[in-house]
Amino acid sequence: MSGKPNYRGRFAPSPTGSLHFGSLVAAVASYADALHERGAWLVRMEDVDQGRVVKGSAGEILRTLEALGFEWDQEVLFQSRRKSRYREILAHLEQQRLVYNCGCSRREIAERAQMGIEGPVYPGTCRRSNDDDASGKALRLRTDQSEICFTDRIQGRHCQVLERDVGDFVIHRADGYTAYQLAVVIDDADQRINQVVRGADLLLSTPRQIYVQKLLDFAHPRYAHVPLVKDRLGRKLSKQDQAHPVAAKTPLPALQSAWKFLQQAPLPEKPDSVQEFWQWAANNWDMSRISPSNR
Ligand code: GLU
Repeated sequence: MSGKPNYRGRFAPSPTGSLHFGSLVAAVASYADALHERGAWLVRMEDVDQGRVVKGSAGEILRTLEALGFEWDQEVLFQSRRKSRYREILAHLEQQRLVYNCGCSRREIAERAQMGIEGPVYPGTCRRSNDDDASGKALRLRTDQSEICFTDRIQGRHCQVLERDVGDFVIHRADGYTAYQLAVVIDDADQRINQVVRGADLLLSTPRQIYVQKLLDFAHPRYAHVPLVKDRLGRKLSKQDQAHPVAAKTPLPALQSAWKFLQQAPLPEKPDSVQEFWQWAANNWDMSRISPSNR
């Protein structure tokens, strides 16, 4: 892809199973938006949590994307190969005394915590301890009372006060893996991503990511959170359930269902090929048609 040099989007699946319809919707939205803006579009495998990775699924996801006509710029970035970069940034945050060790169990936290927007708000138990034995402990990032706001391209304005709504959050896990909230910020910055289009389950994570970007002096991407695909019981589809894997053998119906789910104008006639679908999608993508959703 070439053209407008400044748009850089990405799709960042976790290889924890086959590509399911919910991730396809996020992929179609982010790719169509990038195509429409004549921007660059990258794919990143979020395999930082090796415990959740299903062997072979990264390759399977990439083959499915290819069969569906997605074309990405640059090599696919694998988070599992970026440990030293994550360590470098973590050390930088530690030097600024923004991070502390925390050996609290979930139970200990639950007993003392208030409920926040996404579960218990960490009550700050270990905040003031000078415990420098990090072994087997998580690392938490200090939050504060400042209000963090952003305007999502689909969901509108959203604000959080992290200390009140979330609490000091884990950026390095007790099992040794870098937490998603830190890895995603470092990767988006290093890949110079300035447009994030992804599922609405991550709307509430965004202020945490903006906070980390601020601390690290990274630029803030624009965000668009697309409505989630839910099952009949109203739960988010997840790869672990092996929910609705996308059939690479019948790419056009899969693409058209995602297009319809994204409330886009119907294609005037059945496309003959995935290339034809994407050509039409690039010209007709209109994010403003998507209505904001409840998560
Ligand atoms: N890896 C995440 C997922 O598969 C997406 C993360 C993101 O887009 O920031 O749900």
